[in-house]
Amino acid sequence: MDSVEPIVDPNDQVMDIIQDAFPFASTNISHEREDDVPTPIDSAEFEQYEKLLKNANQELYPGCESFSVLTAIVELMHGKIKYRMSNLCFDYFLGVFKRMLPTDNCLPKDHKHAQKVLNGIGLGYEKIHACKNNCMLFYKEHETLDTCPVCNESRFKMTSPNRRLRSHKKSCVICP
Ligand SMILES: [Zn+2]
Repeated sequence: MDSVEPIVDPNDQVMDIIQDAFPFASTNISHEREDDVPTPIDSAEFEQYEKLLKNANQELYPGCESFSVLTAIVELMHGKIKYRMSNLCFDYFLGVFKRMLPTDNCLPKDHKHAQKVLNGIGLGYEKIHACKNNCMLFYKEHETLDTCPVCNESRFKMTSPNRRLRSHKKSCVICP
């Protein structure tokens, strides 16, 4: 039986990672708090970034409530990595999805354009080891751990005696 594993809260975790990368990034950029530590930012660069982030956060098509451009890209990229899909294959399906959606959709037309949206807001994507039980990602302060701090599951599986080679699973996450 080939069951599909749940993905590791891509939307939440991705937004967390974006927050890490850009402390001033928020879906509500005008929101200011007095106790925020001011971060020196080049204003032209910030304006450009703000524009790109706004584009990434817009709805996938007018009236779409379930996906922003960014979350759509992240989920699709996640699947691409998880199932080791070639760029050619990815482009094919992206093209089909794009034709299925309302004509005024903002889904990137291919892998290159999807990557461009991520790069535009300072993000690339990479494979990160994830706990077998979906507790957490081996990311940032957990990057060097060998076991999950939540459930104690080993990060690696033994592929032969005395050799730990591969992580139980990987998660595609966009990262700074
Ligand atoms: Zn765990």
